[in-house]
Amino acid sequence: QIPVICIDGPTASGKGTVAAEVARRLGYRFLDSGAMYRITAYAATQAGLIIDATHEARIAELARALPVHFDEGKIWLHKQEVTNAIRTEEAGMNASKVSALPLVRLALVDLQHSFQRLPGLVADGRDMGTVIFPNAPLKVFLTASAECRAERRYKQLISKGISANISDLRADLEARDARDANRSVAPMKPAQDALVLDNSRLSVDEAVDQVIGWWRA
Ligand code: C5P
Repeated sequence: QIPVICIDGPTASGKGTVAAEVARRLGYRFLDSGAMYRITAYAATQAGLIIDATHEARIAELARALPVHFDEGKIWLHKQEVTNAIRTEEAGMNASKVSALPLVRLALVDLQHSFQRLPGLVADGRDMGTVIFPNAPLKVFLTASAECRAERRYKQLISKGISANISDLRADLEARDARDANRSVAPMKPAQDALVLDNSRLSVDEAVDQVIGWWRA
């Protein structure tokens, strides 16, 4: 049995950073499942498809054969590097729309399972603990207040030289969370056996130490 640590939670809670660092410290593989929804939405848009139920079957077909490669921090869609293109707010919103389509979620299950490798996997997403790895021995639900999350996203964007407005960011992330939490399939929620960690006032190291402490307990 390959050990899996699930880290789920809302947008900009710090999941990605914490999950990647936990994986690095344990020497485990890292699965960024959000990237798969982002890439699917990107590929669908490039193919001229509309991200709603109208084109659901065609988008699912695209997702099932997604020519994606993760390579040393870079993400490739076939021969095109999409590392930065999929990180915009618009790409996040499109990912959220695509992820509400049940056939698309189903099409991405095998790809997510294929990330399991010894000595272990840290999986970051919304439904890692509830749907994709329900038997994982450690499930963490990482939250933070909307205010903290908007501020975190603002600082990320500013540090990349992208101008941003905190109240717009907060409205966007609250809209995305509402869609993610209220969709009919795999709604974002803590698994029944998840440990909830409020990341509002923790440093990255403190959050990582807590997760690793739970893992070793
Ligand atoms: O985590 P990230 O912001 O990259 O995810 C983008 C979007 O993909 C989320 O807003 C959510 O709608 C969707 N997602 C999902 N299930 C996952 C990971 C992401 O529905 N496991």
